[in-house]
Amino acid sequence: MDFNLTEEQESFRESVIRFAQKELNQDLIDRDESHEFDREAWNRVATLGIHGLPVPEEYGGQAADPLTIVIAMEALGYGCRDNGLIFSINAHIWSAITPILRFGSVPQKQRYLPGLCDGSLIGVQGMSEPGAGSDAFGAMATTAIRSDGGWILNGVKTWITNAPVADVFVVFAVSDSSKGWAGLSAFLVDRDAPGLSVGKPFKKMGLRTSPMSELVFDDCYLPEDSLLGKEGNGMMIFNHSMDWERSSILAHSVGTMQRQVEEAVAFAQQRVQFGQPIGKFQAVSHKIVDMKVRLEASRLLLYNLAWQKGQGRRTDIEAAITKLFLSESWVQSGLDAIQIHGAYGYMTESGIERDLRDAIAGRIYSGTSEIQKNLIAGQLGL
Ligand SMILES: Cc1cc2nc3c(=O)[nH]c(=O)nc-3n(C[C@H](O)[C@H](O)[C@H](O)COP(=O)(O)OP(=O)(O)OC[C@H]3O[C@@H](n4cnc5c(N)ncnc54)[C@H](O)[C@@H]3O)c2cc1C
Repeated sequence: MDFNLTEEQESFRESVIRFAQKELNQDLIDRDESHEFDREAWNRVATLGIHGLPVPEEYGGQAADPLTIVIAMEALGYGCRDNGLIFSINAHIWSAITPILRFGSVPQKQRYLPGLCDGSLIGVQGMSEPGAGSDAFGAMATTAIRSDGGWILNGVKTWITNAPVADVFVVFAVSDSSKGWAGLSAFLVDRDAPGLSVGKPFKKMGLRTSPMSELVFDDCYLPEDSLLGKEGNGMMIFNHSMDWERSSILAHSVGTMQRQVEEAVAFAQQRVQFGQPIGKFQAVSHKIVDMKVRLEASRLLLYNLAWQKGQGRRTDIEAAITKLFLSESWVQSGLDAIQIHGAYGYMTESGIERDLRDAIAGRIYSGTSEIQKNLIAGQLGL
């Protein structure tokens, strides 16, 4: 394994950091308070080529390899403090672009991918339902019935990232209830599909600059060419995008943890109590060491996973381990960062408490930490 960055990767990394620090952090406290998605920042990130990183050039992307992708996302997390914006971009790439890229027909790819890459279209996936969260497939109630040369969808999807601003949704539904998991299909649903309504944006604890709402399908008619992949391929499509999502959705948190370590060191060196910098107290320095160890272990897990993906290997267990470890590490890093900064870290103005609020969602989306452990246990034969 060789994680030495090429000159090209290094210069891309540097340009992403510089760009993010300069362009993406304006008015963040206000936007966080008002749950405001920054569409202009979204468009600016797209000009850097981030949205289309995994997409071939013929569809407007960068055709980047997995290691380059996670390094770019890590750089984004280091330079950009707007975790909500980064989360929206991740949801767009891994839950909309990835399945279209892998399972879309040529006309579907031509129709959606260029706009999803240049930022003019926003996408996401509609999977979760009020009664189907972790048991998303087993408890799914949304149905797709063949009708008039197309499909009629009925049901409700909830906790849908980007929904208030999205143009296209990858929606999963039961197309044949007699076939169990082989009776689930995926559909590409445009925002203006008749019978689709998008709910009011939810208010949340963190990731507030990433909008979220419900989708309600009330006899929503879809033409035949809305089917993504083949009828009955829903589970395969979802598992494919989940593998990429679990592998990459927290890559930016490694950049955030790097920033948290650097800021904790700087604060511990300059904050004086009892006549000496607090970093001289072992209780403080050891906490920062723990942050550093978690950071380095997270980075190694992430790079190793990306390297294996680049070799074309199966990464189901590595993806679950990486998602679990990075999400839990980010939460602990946020808690430690607040403790080291004392009252200042607890203040909104510091931005340190926001990182923690944003991190907590990482234990829930893309499969909760408990579900990742179930997957890993299953791989161990338990
Ligand atoms: C910020 C955010 C963004 C999201 N974006 C999207 C999106 O874009 N599209 C989408 O479709 N969904 C999205 N979701 C929903 C997400 O996928 C679900 O929240 C997640 O799958 C968990 O489902 P649930 O919330 O219904 O929890 P539940 O499944 O009800 O779980 C509740 C608790 O029980 C535990 N639990 C459940 N089953 C088991 C088990 N078998 N073993 C051990 N513990 C178990 C869970 O780990 C959890 O602690 C998002 C969620 C969040 C927080």
